[in-house]
Amino acid sequence: MKWTSIKSEIATITLKKAAHDWSFVELSSLVSDAQNCPLILYPNPIRNKIMKHVREQNVELGGLLVGSIVSITDSVEEIIAIVVRDAMPSIDYESSAVSLTMSPRVWQSANSGLSDEMLVIGWYHSHPNLGAFFSCVDKKTQKDFFYNHYNLGLVIDPVRNEEKWYIGADADEIEENRIRAFCF
Ligand SMILES: [Zn+2]
Repeated sequence: MKWTSIKSEIATITLKKAAHDWSFVELSSLVSDAQNCPLILYPNPIRNKIMKHVREQNVELGGLLVGSIVSITDSVEEIIAIVVRDAMPSIDYESSAVSLTMSPRVWQSANSGLSDEMLVIGWYHSHPNLGAFFSCVDKKTQKDFFYNHYNLGLVIDPVRNEEKWYIGADADEIEENRIRAFCF
């Protein structure tokens, strides 16, 4: 997997703002739940968009995850949740059943037109019928390009209907119960 990263400004949204935007969140439980690892808020419409993309062809497909970081304060060190707000499918790729290369253009299109509080928060890709796990190459991609402690990696096997989430430079696996679905 080849990537060229373009730095984007990091901006967090505060709990207060998030509570306004995302009234579904039970804030007190969010704060206490987030002590070890932030919650990942993954709206159903975004999930559907990603699933539709990765089911298009029986080869590895992927793209970027765009979203917001919810912090107790303004600090990126005190993240309590990461909200996935959009997915940017890479339409400019070379893909085979087992590998995927995305061009810098997906970064540029993801970074342009983002509002202040949105940033590239991670990436997703598919492993058709190979199982949802991070390969050595995926771990390297995560380390090289998605190394911030809030960067997510999502891998999906659309055939077996599996998904796994990873976070940070070391691609630590995120427990399933930290991924919260909701509707807009
Ligand atoms: Zn992979």
